[in-house]
Amino acid sequence: MTMTFAQLGLAPEILRALDSKGYSAPTPIQAQAIPAALQGRDILGAAQTGTGKTAGFSLPILHRLLQNKEPRQRGRAPRVLVLTPTRELAAQVEDSIKTYGQFCGLTSTVIFGGVGMGNQVNALRSGVDVLIATPGRLLDHLQQRTLDLGKINTLVLDEADRMLDMGFLPAIKRVMAALPKQNRHTMLFSATFAPEIRELAKQFLRDPLEVQVAPQNSTAALVEHRIHPVDLAQKKDLLIELLAKDSRIQSLVFTRTKHGADKLVGALTAIGFKAAAIHGNKSQGARTRALADFKSGAVTHLIATDIAARGLDIKELPVVYNFDLPMIAEDYVHRIGRTGRAGSTGLAVSLVAPEDHGLLRDIRNLTKRDLPLEPVEGFISTGKPIFTKPQMRQARGPRPQNAQQRKPGGAPARGNRGAQHAPRPRQAGTAARSGGAGRRGGA
Ligand code: AMP
Repeated sequence: MTMTFAQLGLAPEILRALDSKGYSAPTPIQAQAIPAALQGRDILGAAQTGTGKTAGFSLPILHRLLQNKEPRQRGRAPRVLVLTPTRELAAQVEDSIKTYGQFCGLTSTVIFGGVGMGNQVNALRSGVDVLIATPGRLLDHLQQRTLDLGKINTLVLDEADRMLDMGFLPAIKRVMAALPKQNRHTMLFSATFAPEIRELAKQFLRDPLEVQVAPQNSTAALVEHRIHPVDLAQKKDLLIELLAKDSRIQSLVFTRTKHGADKLVGALTAIGFKAAAIHGNKSQGARTRALADFKSGAVTHLIATDIAARGLDIKELPVVYNFDLPMIAEDYVHRIGRTGRAGSTGLAVSLVAPEDHGLLRDIRNLTKRDLPLEPVEGFISTGKPIFTKPQMRQARGPRPQNAQQRKPGGAPARGNRGAQHAPRPRQAGTAARSGGAGRRGGA
């Protein structure tokens, strides 16, 4: 028999909200995390967006706030802080908390950069229970003394691995220093338990319950991977050919750079595709609009860089394109996590130029998949696979100052994990796959 939310012991106000959302049963991460979090146990969770992790931490937080309800007073300081790496994720988490808490009579607010501080200051002044924030803007408020963290008793570090990738460790440490030390309930979520995450957990969590919903670095089982070799100069034409096969199908396209994303949007819109870009140089208004248009279907192709796209909850995407492979192999796992979600099948298509072969090798090693090259007719890559040293180094991230610090368990945190796959011959007999059944609709 499947477990119900009522069996988890959640308050009726919360059950009512879940009912109106139409959730019938907890997801695996929720079933594991909620009972422990309700008891105030620290949680170290390995779960990506799409697993229901937001409710996994939000529901016990709301329940505990209800149990210790405080009068709604102007200026009351927040008791719960959720830190997220990106503005979009912060806004999304706040939406979820508002929805799950709609009958709880609690207040929440979200603060992130890229928008004025005035409204945020007003919201904080009027008093909040739950604060969701990105680290940079949170520090701005602390410095300007527009925020009091002295009442925080619950902390969530959401997508902690991405916060570290984005260089937020010093900011996180400064925020931690501003929090009360006594009896803090802390939950940390990350896509993987990389060594840096374990280190962070050691510093900030007390005897955490470890919950994990998918094996480390696994790629969604229902996703079909296609790797098309193509010369750099032909990538755009190949993408257009693939997109044109069915112009109604929504896709998320990843590029390495913001400039690359903008260029691609220009090229696609010039020939009539409905495309928009989402990346760190766009104003917050433009980012919000692009995402809303994509969700509503007004935009068919969303062109994104990794930073902007991490954690976005976009339902049932049929296909994700890697116009450029990610510099960090683990980002491949995150990117394709946008498709094949909630039991539906998905497709991940990567365009691989000769200079991308080092990155592809890293991805093969990390995912332990063959990922054979499947040339598309008319788009055969003419160059030899290139494995450049600088590329490999970038893919691994900056060299640690002291290599000893990084390697408690032996393996480097990311990038090439050692096992050598021989580079595949360029057109090695895979051409047959690109005809007939190998070219199912969708792309
Ligand atoms: P998250 O991983 O938290 O971003 O959640 C992914 C998606 O799953 C969101 O759209 C949630 O609304 C949805 N979701 C979360 N929990 C459940 C549940 N128990 N049943 C059905 N959908 C859920």
